[in-house]
Amino acid sequence: MSIRKRPEHFDVIIAGAGISGIGSAYHLHDQCPGKSYLVLEEMESYGGTWLTHTYPGVRSDSDLYTFGYRFKPWTKAPIASAEEILHYLGEVIHENDIDRHIRYNHRIVSASWSSDDQLWTLECLRLEDDKPTIFTANFLWMCQGYYDHSQGYTPQWEGMDNFEGQVVHPQTWPEDLDLGGKRVVLIGSGATAATVAPAIANDCEHLTVLQRSPTYFLPEYNANDLADLLRNLKVDEAWIHEIVRRQVLEKMAEFTHRSVEEPEIVREELLAGVRAFLGPDYDMEKHFTPKYRPWQQRVAFVPEGDLFQGINAGKVTMATDEIGRFTKNGILLKSGEELEADVIITATGFNLCVLGGIQFTVDGEPVDFAKTVTYRGMMFSGVPNMLWVFGYFRASWTLRVDIVGDFVCRLLNHMKTRHARSVEVALRPEDADMEILPWIDNDNFNPGYLQRSMHLMPRRGSNPVWQHTQDYWNEREELPRVDLDGSEFVYH
Ligand SMILES: Cc1cc2nc3c(=O)[nH]c(=O)nc-3n(C[C@H](O)[C@H](O)[C@H](O)COP(=O)(O)OP(=O)(O)OC[C@H]3O[C@@H](n4cnc5c(N)ncnc54)[C@H](O)[C@@H]3O)c2cc1C
Repeated sequence: MSIRKRPEHFDVIIAGAGISGIGSAYHLHDQCPGKSYLVLEEMESYGGTWLTHTYPGVRSDSDLYTFGYRFKPWTKAPIASAEEILHYLGEVIHENDIDRHIRYNHRIVSASWSSDDQLWTLECLRLEDDKPTIFTANFLWMCQGYYDHSQGYTPQWEGMDNFEGQVVHPQTWPEDLDLGGKRVVLIGSGATAATVAPAIANDCEHLTVLQRSPTYFLPEYNANDLADLLRNLKVDEAWIHEIVRRQVLEKMAEFTHRSVEEPEIVREELLAGVRAFLGPDYDMEKHFTPKYRPWQQRVAFVPEGDLFQGINAGKVTMATDEIGRFTKNGILLKSGEELEADVIITATGFNLCVLGGIQFTVDGEPVDFAKTVTYRGMMFSGVPNMLWVFGYFRASWTLRVDIVGDFVCRLLNHMKTRHARSVEVALRPEDADMEILPWIDNDNFNPGYLQRSMHLMPRRGSNPVWQHTQDYWNEREELPRVDLDGSEFVYH
């Protein structure tokens, strides 16, 4: 007779060992001591985004004083390489004994909530041997990011099959790609294109950056004078981290505020920063003057103006035009010009992936997240004991990992005090007539991957608690003050 083994059980399961999952594990361990937890990660190691992306030059475009956690000082130059970020995360894992709580090579396939058992059951695929594995948990802390790690987004252009060269997406950069002596066209104008271009410009015969429309760039030196001064004065690193963090946040707040209040002035300042590198004769209007207002899309940071230095050196040419079709030799633009290429790099973004592609059910009913309403961009109506860490886009993502971490731990501790086994959010009578809106205000922030898949994302409501503001400064004040006994929380 075979005896069925009971699944391993944990108080909390954290999905994903990227910067969100590791930070959440830290907060749980710190603020809810005694709770058992497990981090399930599909990849063979930690880091998520910073492990997946290996294209030349891969780096942050936020400063690490705020992209790093509030609890772990950053001690280097503000903009960091993927390798430096992975090293930092490795130290957090090691210093806080998180290693033994992570199971790598475990893909969560489905998550089923049972109200009778007040429990989540997770079906995983153990990728080492393709074996199904089951875990149960009281609470799910979703840190699986927002995009498909297996493949980036490449639009389908006419004639692509005719192109006789190689097409490469930065997210799946071939280890052995040799660009020596090649003519390369890099499609894209966001942070990835701005990073890849200077990193490969000296290797190729020539690099053309092809963009449909221009982006705002912020050329600055990769240094923080205040941090350097404090370091020279031998101030403790924990103090430096806190002081510089506050300085960066203050500057960010001012920039965000000014982008809305005086967009024309901010626009001029940004353009002047680029013009200072390219000189008065460069066609700024065509290549570097965006049509949208600053901060509607992320402003791409250009350390030391490296992209513009490549242009000045004649190694990089900008082409602002639309693709008509691919040809045997390259790309035919709508203007009629043909860009000849041996390699085409498509820095065209991500495929959004809602909640890690996991099939969710609640009491046997499949959950369609597009029919749920989000509580402050964290919890979802009708889905008990589950929360998603979706960071900030315009401020550093990780700022939200820390404040949402505080919120979850406060909620878990509150449930313990109330002897509650589950909590879910539900619309209140006063929400009956509220307007149901898309996940994020399109006018406020509108990157392509969100626009393409907004219909798959949870909704937001017009009443304040159902909003997803992406406003760090507001949430920093509001989240710690949320009344956990408010009528939007239903406990069992
Ligand atoms: C190249 C690049 C540069 C960026 N730079 C910045 C920046 O400078 N500043 C900034 O604020 N933001 C930046 N971002 C946004 C960035 O994605 C976030 O800041 C952050 O790294 C996301 O962390 P995360 O842990 O939430 O998600 P991810 O990094 O996506 O990690 C999620 C993890 O969950 C795992 N996972 C997913 N689904 C499952 C499943 N079903 N089962 C098990 N495991 C699963 C994944 O394998 C992954 O390891 C950048 C993004 C990219 C792609």
